[in-house]
Amino acid sequence: MENCIFCKIIKGELPSYKIYEDEHNLAFLDINPTTEGHTLVVPKQHFVNFEDIPEEELKKTILIVKKIGKKLKDGLGVESYNVCENNDLAAGQLIPHIHFHLIPRHGNDNLKPWPQTSYSEGRAEEVLKKIKIN
Ligand code: AMP
Ligand code: ZN
Repeated sequence: MENCIFCKIIKGELPSYKIYEDEHNLAFLDINPTTEGHTLVVPKQHFVNFEDIPEEELKKTILIVKKIGKKLKDGLGVESYNVCENNDLAAGQLIPHIHFHLIPRHGNDNLKPWPQTSYSEGRAEEVLKKIKIN
């Protein structure tokens, strides 16, 4: 896809710190890391988001996320990591080429990604009716 930063990285038109590459996926360091080793895993084909990517491609990508997660633990000696996919603009997806963030975490890093709220009386049941699948 023209003008897509990640497509340009995949084609080698922009530089990146590559961690892993195969026929279908590329993993590289995020240029503005939340923590050291913050990695992005992207499918080489340009899919925008979860709704756009075919299941078979998604499966291949998520297996690479798992592989990189193990490498972050082994290589950096971190205790934990977050896996995050910002799905569309309101969720913070700035680059519309689906990608998974892996963010190494340390017990003392004081990062608190998600503020939490609570449901008012009856609200959880109303929400459930809209999204329950079976
Ligand atoms: P998102 O907001 O989920 O779309 O995440 C986009 C991520 O891409 C951000 O964390 C950026 O720091 C990262 N990013 C943008 N440009 C580059 C680049 N040229 N190389 C590596 N990471 C990048
Ligand atoms: Zn792209």
